[in-house]
Amino acid sequence: RAKSEGRHTARFFDEALKEETRLRWRLSRDLEGAVERGEMSLVYQPMADARTLRVIGYEALLRWRHPELGDIRPDQFIPLAESSGRIDSLGLWVADQAMAAARGWPDHAIVALNLSPVQFRQADLAADLLALAERHGLAPERLEFEVTESATLLGHRRDDVLGALRALQDRGARIVMDDFGTGYSSLGNLRDFRFDKLKVDRSFVSAMLDHAPSASIVRSIAALGESLGVPVAAEGVETEEQLALLRRWGFPQVQGYLLGRPERLESVLRSAAYAGMIG
Ligand code: C2E
Ligand code: MG
Ligand code: MG
Ligand code: MG
Repeated sequence: RAKSEGRHTARFFDEALKEETRLRWRLSRDLEGAVERGEMSLVYQPMADARTLRVIGYEALLRWRHPELGDIRPDQFIPLAESSGRIDSLGLWVADQAMAAARGWPDHAIVALNLSPVQFRQADLAADLLALAERHGLAPERLEFEVTESATLLGHRRDDVLGALRALQDRGARIVMDDFGTGYSSLGNLRDFRFDKLKVDRSFVSAMLDHAPSASIVRSIAALGESLGVPVAAEGVETEEQLALLRRWGFPQVQGYLLGRPERLESVLRSAAYAGMIG
């Protein structure tokens, strides 16, 4: 009996796996032309000064509305765009859209873009991004590029990645280490490259009130940032208690649903937070 149940379970997982593979294959195929069909859009999430809570800028986040399957999460489709190579054109489309939006914002407002590690295979990535900024009349000082730690871990490509990041920095753009603390070599990366900001991963922030080790880690990152002279930001801030602690520990920047959810550009421009940034 146990044996037949085992076979049952095996068959169930086998089917589920096939289903998952089919879905991935379909999504990967449907990504082709999704921009042209108008299925892709951007939302913008505010980044705020922890002390004044004023908005300092917005992070652009990509959204895909599939005509039959509805909203697909970036965690699901970005990896598919990466493995099919579509991330290169998609990434530049995101940058173009976000920079066009940011042109209408106040002069000091930052626009943050997420870069996929895969995009660094393109030798002209930095030049392309800087050319886009110039075309939109955006000073590079207003640009932040968020890279996850895996981006700096492309093995033999490591020097190319660091070179591209450096080229962006040389022109005044800032490089942010995103999801800090979750990578394989956080400290090694910090030693080998000068980041302009560290963004502590949401998982630490959401756990820190009831998980002492997470709290210790967040607090240590604040101290680390301070002694390196690198500003730290916390993402995923959802409660007043979290905000209070982060402020007490000296975090200069915060981001999360408490401060504002990612929203379409039209809603951003109508929001009180946006008005507060201008005023
Ligand atoms: P990320 O860059 O770390 O972005 C933060 C994610 O956390 C976003 O999810 C955001 O909507 C979500 N978030 C923000 N505040 C809160 C909060 O208070 N609570 C909770 N529960 N979640 C919060 P999203 O938009 O689903 O994006 C997921 C990831 O997909 C991003 O993580 C980023 O790595 C990637 N991604 C999104 N857009 C792009 C893009 O244009 N290019 C690339 N390469 N990656 C992107
Ligand atoms: Mg990010
Ligand atoms: Mg992040
Ligand atoms: Mg993330």
